[in-house]
Amino acid sequence: MKSLAVIALLLLTGNLMAQDKSKPQPADAIFINGNIWVGAQLVSPMPPVSRAQALAVQGDHLVAVGSNEEIKKLKGLNTTVVDLAGRFVLPGFNDAHLHLSAGGFEKLQVNLVGTKSLAEMKQRIADGARKSAPNEWILGRGWDHTKWTEQVLPTRQDLDAVTGDHPAILGRIDGHISVANSAALKVAGIDRNTKAPSGGQIDRDANGEATGILRESAVALVGAKIPRPTPSQVRQAMELALADAAQWGLTSVQSQMLDNREWEDFLVCEDLEREGKLTTRVNMWLPFDGELAKIQQWRAHHPASDPMLHTGMLKAYMDGSLGSRTAAMREGFTDDPGNKGLSQWDPSKLNAMAAERADAGFQLGFHAIGDRGADMALDAFAEAQRFVREHDQSRSRREPRNRIEHDQVIESDQFARYKELGVIASVQPNHLLTDMNWAESHIGPARAKTSYPWRDFAKNGIMMAFGTDYPVEPLTPFRGIYAAVTRKNEEGTREYYPEQKLTIDEALAAYTYGSAYGEYSERDKGQLKSGMLADFVVLDRDLTKIAPNEILGTKVLRTVVGGKTVYKAD
Ligand SMILES: [Zn+2]
Repeated sequence: MKSLAVIALLLLTGNLMAQDKSKPQPADAIFINGNIWVGAQLVSPMPPVSRAQALAVQGDHLVAVGSNEEIKKLKGLNTTVVDLAGRFVLPGFNDAHLHLSAGGFEKLQVNLVGTKSLAEMKQRIADGARKSAPNEWILGRGWDHTKWTEQVLPTRQDLDAVTGDHPAILGRIDGHISVANSAALKVAGIDRNTKAPSGGQIDRDANGEATGILRESAVALVGAKIPRPTPSQVRQAMELALADAAQWGLTSVQSQMLDNREWEDFLVCEDLEREGKLTTRVNMWLPFDGELAKIQQWRAHHPASDPMLHTGMLKAYMDGSLGSRTAAMREGFTDDPGNKGLSQWDPSKLNAMAAERADAGFQLGFHAIGDRGADMALDAFAEAQRFVREHDQSRSRREPRNRIEHDQVIESDQFARYKELGVIASVQPNHLLTDMNWAESHIGPARAKTSYPWRDFAKNGIMMAFGTDYPVEPLTPFRGIYAAVTRKNEEGTREYYPEQKLTIDEALAAYTYGSAYGEYSERDKGQLKSGMLADFVVLDRDLTKIAPNEILGTKVLRTVVGGKTVYKAD
């Protein structure tokens, strides 16, 4: 009898406990009355993406996503309630390729973006020189002579006229060419006898004197002489870039460091995180060509499991850019047939290093713009994967998710290799808005058909991650989304191989799920599901319902990272 009572009591308390458990914990915050695109895996063709009305946040995670009715049940006495007023909500944007601190420095240095002539470039440099201390370097970037009336490259004499004694070097918009003045060339010891480093070029005039134009690896001859920015300058730049990111709805970014000699970028982000000021999740790449022991030490410095900040893939450059015709090509450029671009690596050295670094557990991300650049990356990935397979039978390691950054000129035979090797195409569709002005004249119609080949990637089951390459292009995700779904310029007057268009759902999935996949984090980010990080963005319009030209004017109303609002429009 007694024992039966005990059992009954146990059953009763057990039941009570079960009931307690089933009674939901109140959420820290609930967001109701939304038009929530919950996100999806990027597959082709894409099934319709489901919608929800509301979501609930506990700590930095989502604990429920569903109808208003379901979510309101999670409202407790201390729950913050946010009325989304019917607005469009989607998983936060994840910019898979940018240069965060460089974007901030652009705001601190001479900004040449948008200059319409050499005269305007000189004017802006003169303004910068006036504000500089004696002998201080004048730095800046963003000129694009293809957009000037005269369409000729600037020279050191052009700069000398406005820089006085200041050494100066100013990068072209694509970051692959710079123009230095005479003082900077002198500091770097560049004269008529200087040989360009391999993978680089020093342009010379008819008399054999340097014109001031330095290409690819030759830029570093001057770059190495520029005094390093102080940690406080890096911090200032990083804060400006983070503010930009929050404002554009970026809840995650994957960034290259300012330069690869030191890693202040990471240390500054670490300080900001400690102070609660890191408002965007940062995955910081490390240099592929860095000393192995050093990059392993950098990787070990901060926990890889920290979802706010950690190191990521190893970045290397196979080639240059299409705009400056330094992309490595199988065949010469259509408008410069003798020129097959500049490849940055000896393949056997590249393959050996790729194998060594993949074996050390690093993800590889190789910049490749030309088809030969992509061949080099694919060959290196194949070699690295073969080496790791043979060398490590444990099978405990994560699958390789090597990436090609940019993927601009791709040949039909290369898609199968991407697929076979599991390579991710990390593309920046916004580049096409600029590049469509000259891409076809550089590569001709046959190659242009499979250039910027987003539909071909989707069709072949190749994962795409979206980014901007900020500050090469502005940080807004909406230009890239617009380019992906229209293949038109911003004015809508020019179209580039529209058969490579994506649907709006595909473009949004690439910018969220695809980018998360590209950094091994699709289990935590890129969709709005219970248990995932509470990273989302509220927009002023439903991107899936509007005419494509209205995408460009989209405004971000609110950016939420880990449940915290980091940006709110007024
Ligand atoms: Zn880049």
